[in-house]
Amino acid sequence: MLHTNLDINEKGHLTFAGVDTVELAKEYKTPLYVLDEQRVREKCRIYIDAMKKYFGEESIPLYASKALSFKEMYKIMKDEGMSVDAVSGGEIYTAKEAGFPMEKVYFHGNNKTDEEIAFAMDCGLGCFMSDCREELQAISRIAGEKGITQKIIMRLTPGIDTHTYEAVRTGQVDSKFGVPIETGQAIELVEYALSLPNIELMGFHCHVGSQVFDGQSFCDSADIMIDFIVLVKEKLGYEAKVLNLGGGYGVRYVEEDPVLDIEESIKEVSEHIKNKCAKAKIDMPRIMMEPGRSIVADAGITLYSVGNVRTIKGYKSYVAVDGGMSDNPRFALYGSLYSVLVANKANEKADFKCDVVGKCCESGDVIAEHINLPHCEKGDYIAVLTTGAYNYSMASNYNRIPRPPIVILKDRKSRIGVKRETYADLVKNDI
Ligand SMILES: *Cc1c(COP(=O)(O)O)cnc(C)c1O
Repeated sequence: MLHTNLDINEKGHLTFAGVDTVELAKEYKTPLYVLDEQRVREKCRIYIDAMKKYFGEESIPLYASKALSFKEMYKIMKDEGMSVDAVSGGEIYTAKEAGFPMEKVYFHGNNKTDEEIAFAMDCGLGCFMSDCREELQAISRIAGEKGITQKIIMRLTPGIDTHTYEAVRTGQVDSKFGVPIETGQAIELVEYALSLPNIELMGFHCHVGSQVFDGQSFCDSADIMIDFIVLVKEKLGYEAKVLNLGGGYGVRYVEEDPVLDIEESIKEVSEHIKNKCAKAKIDMPRIMMEPGRSIVADAGITLYSVGNVRTIKGYKSYVAVDGGMSDNPRFALYGSLYSVLVANKANEKADFKCDVVGKCCESGDVIAEHINLPHCEKGDYIAVLTTGAYNYSMASNYNRIPRPPIVILKDRKSRIGVKRETYADLVKNDI
């Protein structure tokens, strides 16, 4: 199967983390997000162990919490000794409510409001990632008002094209994220940051994109970043102590996607960086990485019920499920591919060509196109695989559809991580 936490039991039902998904769908109703806690923990350990081993004890893996953010996730991250990225006041608040240590939270975002900056400082956030003059100025001023010195890392764009989807490329020169090295603006901004009171510049950050399946783009961006560290040292006499390489390791959504050995890739990247630093005659900076998708994607599946199957004679067939772009907008946004199974017919031959669509009022409300499923009908259960990342976190109440709950599996037992939204939840802010 696509991931090792998936299997088929004697009833021909799909199991996830050892639990019968049909039983889960019956018990908790659909649509339903299911999260394999052990898988999340295993992934954290892969990063922690590999980074320690190859980048040294001082290295820091940060979980990019935008991939999946709710209180239990931060408790797991705390437990595993991870640090986390947050990109909004809301993510910071969620981490705080979960009792996550605030000094291990790193604040990203290309346009933080003054209110968010002040809130983050009041929470005692460890570090801000910043990439523009207005924001540096605001951080410096607000830190001054609060009588603190705020640590920051400057986000740069190394000018790398990762050949990934347009909408998830972030490393190219003309990105809305980061300040470009190529145009000379990065060094100007470093000079400006060093001149400001109440902030302490720790080093530099870059993030080249997502669904990256090899170490090469990390090596390429590290080269450019290390050259920049050397340039800044020569020109401004400042030596960066931290190099944050961002996130982006890919996951398998479909069989055609490659299998990635994260530890092996980190080893390769570390050897490259060590060589590069030796040649550049600088000490290896403290390395950070920010995995999001690769921590949680294959720890999640979504279960739906089939409502109807309609065949347009001579054209195609549609299988309509009780969720859709409201709980998974990634096909609509990026044309993302997913693997889909009929959970209660996991052993049956998949020879029914169809599109799996949602219940929203949009033709673009598609989960998967041109796929083969076993013949299915009203009442069957559909499982969409690898939905742990950027599904719940991107879900909306479009068409006033309540968001599904998240059920967490651990040791073959299930518990609620996030409750199902109710109709009352939908109107709670309406006057
Ligand atoms: C989205 C993002 C990440 C995580 O990317 P993944 O592809 O989920 O690993 C890390 N860092 C930054 C700055 C991001 O924007």
